[in-house]
Amino acid sequence: MRRRDILKSLTVLPVAGTASNALGTYTPSALPAPKRDLFKELGLRTFINAAGNYTSMTASLMPPEVMEAIRSSAEEYVMLEEVQDKAGEKIAALCKAEAAMVTAGCWSALVLGMAGVLTGMDPKKVGQLPFLSGTGMKSEVIVQKSHANGYHQALTNTGVSIVLVETREELEKAINDKTALLWFLNREAPAGNIKHQEWLELAKKHNLPTMIDIAADVPPVENLWKFNEMGFDLVCISGGKAMCGPQSAGILMGKKDLIAAARLSAPPRSGIGRGHKVNKEEILGMYVALDRYVKHDHKKDWETWEKRIAVIDSAVKGITGVKTEVVIPPVANHNPSLNIMWDNTKVKISRDAMGEKLRKGTPSIEVISWETENSIRLTVFMLKPGQEKIVAQRIKEELISASA
Ligand SMILES: *Cc1c(COP(=O)(O)O)cnc(C)c1O
Repeated sequence: MRRRDILKSLTVLPVAGTASNALGTYTPSALPAPKRDLFKELGLRTFINAAGNYTSMTASLMPPEVMEAIRSSAEEYVMLEEVQDKAGEKIAALCKAEAAMVTAGCWSALVLGMAGVLTGMDPKKVGQLPFLSGTGMKSEVIVQKSHANGYHQALTNTGVSIVLVETREELEKAINDKTALLWFLNREAPAGNIKHQEWLELAKKHNLPTMIDIAADVPPVENLWKFNEMGFDLVCISGGKAMCGPQSAGILMGKKDLIAAARLSAPPRSGIGRGHKVNKEEILGMYVALDRYVKHDHKKDWETWEKRIAVIDSAVKGITGVKTEVVIPPVANHNPSLNIMWDNTKVKISRDAMGEKLRKGTPSIEVISWETENSIRLTVFMLKPGQEKIVAQRIKEELISASA
């Protein structure tokens, strides 16, 4: 198919803005075009996000309900602490936790939660962070080696050091009177020797608090309460991934005393968390995004994603030398994704060149083009309705034009 034909057929695609609730995670807004087009004014490239929730790609789009919460709450003053109190109560109820607070992302939840574990309600200790020695505060966090892949570094902002273990025996040996917390990364649960229940059982035995990072682990929606109910003392999640809340928001939830303690290091106070400010608009936007997500039709979402995958899959899989495979990550970014692989004696293009062609095309498209040679990977859960057809056509066009 020639470029002109592609462009011609694109004009008949459904326009984003058609109202329906069966459109996947994102529902487009019906607002008129803005008076001031900042993307144009600043020369910013916008693109179709067939890659997924990547911070570098600005992750997810906030739905109209969330934008409405942000816009409408910008018109009045309220006390910041009261916003946290009230939104926290609602969020805790939705997630079946004792208490909750909105943080500046999951990373921020890790830092503030850790601070709360160390300081308790002692304002003097809050002021001493991150210099722990001689303060009476504990200073070590135990993490399974397979769970230590970068995000655990958030905890060290409070001054703690990380102690790595692999087995139950090593864990029990590592526990001493400086041990502050047992930290668990849900995404790596399948890789670790010690699973959730055993982790909690060991924490209970040694009377230690636990924290779990579930940043990207909805869907399934049940994960919002599963780990609170399981008994983790603190649960940390991103707001701007699949929940489509503000990108700079997240949730720290769990035991009442620990959430109260975590708030001592957060704005409006000046502690190590002062830079983790979340404005009232985003606190309320986070609450609305969560509320919407809990009530959302997740079965319909899944069906929408499968249909989108099928559109792209069927467009490319007949091409000589091209193979496809649908992959569903078991934990974290749990949604159907498509691997498109080609035999490079038949389709003569490198993975990087393919990524670049899609990026430089019209419209620009981002896919995952950094994992394995002669293949790209894509997700459809961040697409706007109808974009799967554009993605299918563009990939097909590039595969055919690279075919011998
Ligand atoms: C994304 C992510 C984070 C960081 O979350 P932010 O909301 O971007 O601060 C932490 N841990 C894991 C496992 C993540 O995937």
